[in-house]
Amino acid sequence: MRNDADLTTDHRSPSENDTPNADTGYQPAAGESDPPRREFKARGSFVERCDGCRLPVLNCLCPYRVMATSDAQVWLLTHPYEHNKPTNTGRLIADVLPQTQTFTWYRTAPEARLLALLADRRYVPFVVFPDDQPDYQHRVVDERAVIGAKQDGFIPVFILIDGTWRQARRIFRKSPYLEDLPVLPLHTDRLTRYRLRKPASASHLCTAEVAAELLRKTGDADAANVLDDYFDAFNESYAASRFYHKIEKPNAAMQRLLDRRAFGASYA
Ligand SMILES: [Zn+2]
Repeated sequence: MRNDADLTTDHRSPSENDTPNADTGYQPAAGESDPPRREFKARGSFVERCDGCRLPVLNCLCPYRVMATSDAQVWLLTHPYEHNKPTNTGRLIADVLPQTQTFTWYRTAPEARLLALLADRRYVPFVVFPDDQPDYQHRVVDERAVIGAKQDGFIPVFILIDGTWRQARRIFRKSPYLEDLPVLPLHTDRLTRYRLRKPASASHLCTAEVAAELLRKTGDADAANVLDDYFDAFNESYAASRFYHKIEKPNAAMQRLLDRRAFGASYA
């Protein structure tokens, strides 16, 4: 975690949404976004967790794990703090879509594997990010560019920055290897269903929800549906465990996943 130290001594931009300490320019954010310094100590960290899914064993997610295929791929660029959080939803994408690549974000030294993939001409990568700032408008594209890449025989890739919104902005701004890539914003009316962290706004979808929406909008509806259901199962299972409630009857999303596991994709 050598980069954690790097991050915590870095001065943040005043536009970022917390009050800097006048002396040091840095003050840890409050609440859920407070970065864990060493090992992760969450609420409920004393709870026994499943080795397979990292959820409390009370409502383990493993029975609902189903894989799907998609034309587009997802590459996760994950903030180092995010990897340790059991509430992280980026990993759900990798469970459903086995071609998913996960990279840890380092400001100073990007992973060589990521640079190699970015240079690979088979892929057409898009950085998924809001289009709300003027300085990169020339890079903004929409879903048609993804569908076009597919039609031209390329593999479109959604690069999802996996972290808090503040971390994501930082990663977007401080990663030279992302600077030349097209920016794909997600415009959707859907509100987040995520119950495990409090979002700043209900329109802030979590990482798995963003992936499902992008897949749905660009022709990978089956993968989108499975991921949506898997996210629902995760959300429901985890939230129930926080209240020590055991789910006795699978909800509709869980039942679809169980059916798919039992009977295969043709069932759905
Ligand atoms: Zn499990």
